[in-house]
Amino acid sequence: MVKETGFYDMLGVRPSATAEELKKAYRKLALKYHPDKNPTEGGRFKQISQAYEVLSDTRKREVYDRGGEKAIKDGGTGGGGGFTSPMDIFDMFFGGGGRMHRERKGKNMVHTLSVSLEELYNGATRKLSLQKNIICDRCQGRGGRKGAVEVCQCCQGTGVQVQLHQLMGHVVQQVSTLCIACHGQGLRISQKDKCKACRARKILRQTKTLEVHIDRGMKDGQKIVFHGEGDQEPGLEPGDVIIVLDQKAHPIFTRKGENLIMTMELQLVEALCGFRKPLQTLDSRTLLITSHPGELIKPGTKKCVLNEGMPLYRRPFEKGRLIIVFTVVFPEENFLSPNKLKELERYLPGKVEDEDSERMDDDLYFYTDLEDCELPRESHLFENKEDTDYHSGGGIQCQTS
Ligand SMILES: [Zn+2]
Ligand SMILES: [Zn+2]
Repeated sequence: MVKETGFYDMLGVRPSATAEELKKAYRKLALKYHPDKNPTEGGRFKQISQAYEVLSDTRKREVYDRGGEKAIKDGGTGGGGGFTSPMDIFDMFFGGGGRMHRERKGKNMVHTLSVSLEELYNGATRKLSLQKNIICDRCQGRGGRKGAVEVCQCCQGTGVQVQLHQLMGHVVQQVSTLCIACHGQGLRISQKDKCKACRARKILRQTKTLEVHIDRGMKDGQKIVFHGEGDQEPGLEPGDVIIVLDQKAHPIFTRKGENLIMTMELQLVEALCGFRKPLQTLDSRTLLITSHPGELIKPGTKKCVLNEGMPLYRRPFEKGRLIIVFTVVFPEENFLSPNKLKELERYLPGKVEDEDSERMDDDLYFYTDLEDCELPRESHLFENKEDTDYHSGGGIQCQTS
């Protein structure tokens, strides 16, 4: 039981969330609330990073679960309280530049690209248009005609204006402000020499279309980096554009690593007497899923088809497994007349006839009623704990039609 759930709520996950779920939640929210995209949500961005910083660290998460936010702030983690800056968390997470590079290299731009499971299975090329700054080619980033750029007279090229204020007596206060005349650039261009294309701003806004190649077997959250495609700025090496893949949920298949998992619903008669079911793969082939003769499928049975899972990244001719979890639909009430049910009974094993019940002796029995009841969702009373064990079975036949 955790003391408080604030950090979990901030990321929109349950306190039982796995590291993978935390990552995914942070990724979504950090991109949504990043100041580049959502300048008014700086506070939110900071809270998300702090929550993620704590919960992604096993030791800090333990401290938080035990003592809440206060324990973290009190420095219960040994390393003292306080948080890393949200931007650094973001950069570490998305692998952007890092502090050392930032001075000489422009900012990285991170974008999400929503992709379908089919695209990750088959591979795809997507076009992505984005706005970026490029260096003005008319003036080559000088802002004006060649030779027209001169040192600013107001600040002598420093970009800073220093003013001295005499306070009381001999006390002098020195105040530095950004030079208004050159906007801190230290250089000026006379009005008539200014570049007409960029109006001396040295950069232009441009729409650039990137071709994003989604390779077979790529994963949700995988990054595709376009080196040097970030904003250009004079004197700086441009940063990268980082595309983060975001897989949409699929109505049939769930991906787990290289495996695909699905549920297949069988009618009771199919579970008992056998079945043949067509199944459309992610590359639009049709598999025929068939039970072995005489085989009986119990609810919750897991079977797998080898080599029908996800293709492996960079080894696309190898594939994981397709895991099928079977559910069994029972017939509606009164689907058979009482006579026919009696007949059916003869074929089904296991019914114990109680001879006493024929006598209907009220003294021998306490008559009870069975009622429908809802058990709380948390009590996984009857649930199979070995959910992750998909190694059982493998006997399903399958043929491509
Ligand atoms: Zn220009
Ligand atoms: Zn100046």
